Amino acid sequence: MKIKRIIRTALSFLMVAAINVGIVTSYAPSVSAVSGMTEQEIRDEINRIEQENSDRKEEIDRIDGEIADNQETFDKISLMLGEQKNEVDYYNNLVYYKNEDIKAMQADIDKKTSEINELNDKLAKADADIKAAEKENAENLEKFAQIIRTMYTSGNSDVFGVLSGATDFYQLMVSSEIVGNITEKNYEFMNQLKADIKQLEADKNTYKTDKKVLEEKRDLLEGNMKILEDEKADLVTLQDKAQQKADGYQADYDKYQGILNDLQYEQDNLQYLVTVGEAEIEAFEEQLKELIIQNTQQGTTLQEGDWIWPVPGFSYISCYFGWDYDFWRMHKGIDIGDWGIYGSNIYATKGGTVIIAEDWYIPGYSYGKYVVVDHGGLYTSTYAHMDTVNVYVGQVVEKGDVLGTVGNTGYSTGPHLHFEIRYDGEPVDPFGYVEIY
Ligand SMILES: [Zn+2]
Repeated sequence: MKIKRIIRTALSFLMVAAINVGIVTSYAPSVSAVSGMTEQEIRDEINRIEQENSDRKEEIDRIDGEIADNQETFDKISLMLGEQKNEVDYYNNLVYYKNEDIKAMQADIDKKTSEINELNDKLAKADADIKAAEKENAENLEKFAQIIRTMYTSGNSDVFGVLSGATDFYQLMVSSEIVGNITEKNYEFMNQLKADIKQLEADKNTYKTDKKVLEEKRDLLEGNMKILEDEKADLVTLQDKAQQKADGYQADYDKYQGILNDLQYEQDNLQYLVTVGEAEIEAFEEQLKELIIQNTQQGTTLQEGDWIWPVPGFSYISCYFGWDYDFWRMHKGIDIGDWGIYGSNIYATKGGTVIIAEDWYIPGYSYGKYVVVDHGGLYTSTYAHMDTVNVYVGQVVEKGDVLGTVGNTGYSTGPHLHFEIRYDGEPVDPFGYVEIY
C-alpha cells in the first residue's frame, strides 16, 4: 500500500518534470504541443487534479482529527506510564535499601558466627590442654608410685613406717626427708598441672558463657533477618506488580506511538501529493496561458473606449482577484454573485472578437459554459459559469452586446459570474479596468 503510493508519487513528480521540460522546448498553435491536449482537455485535467487535491485535503483534515483523538489517548497513556515508572523507581529504591539492610545484617551475623567459631576453637583447645595435663599428671603419678614401690621392696623400713601411719599422702612425702629430694620436682610439677587444669576449666566456663551470649545475639539477629527477608519479599511482590503495570502501559504507549507515526506518515504523503498536484496544475496553467496567447490575435491594438461592468445592477463580490484563502488557490478573476443574478444578461466589457464560446461542459468541473473575447492589443476577457451562450467563435461583438446569461455551470457553488481580464494570457485584476455599475 505504502510502496504503491510512493511509486505513484514518484510518477507524478516525473510527469510534472516532463511537462515543465515540454513547455520550454515546444510550441504549436491551437493545441498544446507537449501533450496534444485541447484547451478543454487541459481544463478538465486541471479540474481532475483539483478534485484529487480537494479529496486529499479532506483526507488530511480527517487524519488531523484522527491524530488529535489518538494524541489525546497517547498523552493520557504517556502520563500514566510516567507515573507508573515513578512507582517502579520508588519500589526499586525500597528494595535496594532493604537489600542494603540485609547485607549489613548478614555482615553482623557473619561476625557473630566467626566469634562463635573462635570460641569453639578455644574450647576445643582448652579440652585438648586439659586432656594433655591430665595425661601427664597420671604418668607422673605412676612414676611416683613406682619410686614408692621400689623403696618398699628394697626393705627401707623408715619409709614403710612413715607410709603406714600417714594420713595425708602428699604431705607425708614432703615432710619425709628420704623421699623429699626425690619427689620434690614431681610434686611441684603435679601441683602446677592441677592448677593449670583448674585454670583451663575456668577458661572453658568463661568461653561457654561468652558463646552462649553470642549465640543468643546471633539468634536475635537471625530473627531480625527473617523479618527483613519477609519485608523484602513483600516489596518485591509490589515491585513486580508495578513493573507489570508499567509494561502494560509501555505496550499501549508503543502501540499508539506506532498509530500516530503511521497517521503522520500518511498525512505527510498526502501533503506531498497535494504539492505535486499543485505543481502539475501550475504546469497546466502555463499551457493554458500559451493556448490563450495562441488564440489571441497578435499585432492588434486595444479597442478605444472604456471597459464596462459586465452585469449592470449587480455588485456583490463574493471572491476578489488574488489569493483565495478559502480554497487555497490563486483566483484569476472576480466572482459577482448577488442574490437574483441567475439568468441575467452578461454584456461584453469591450468590443472585440469571440475566440472561445464553450457551450459544452462537465457538471461540477471547471468554467462550465464560458466565453472569451479578444479585445486586441493582447487583452482578453473571460465570462464563466454561464447558463446560456449567445455568441459563436469568430463573431465580432460591440461593447455592451449580450454574450449570454449568468448561470451555475461547471465548478460553481451558486449562480455567479466569474469574470476575468487577461493581458498576454496572464490574469490581471479586473478592477484595474472596470468599475461597478
Ligand atoms: Zn471565480
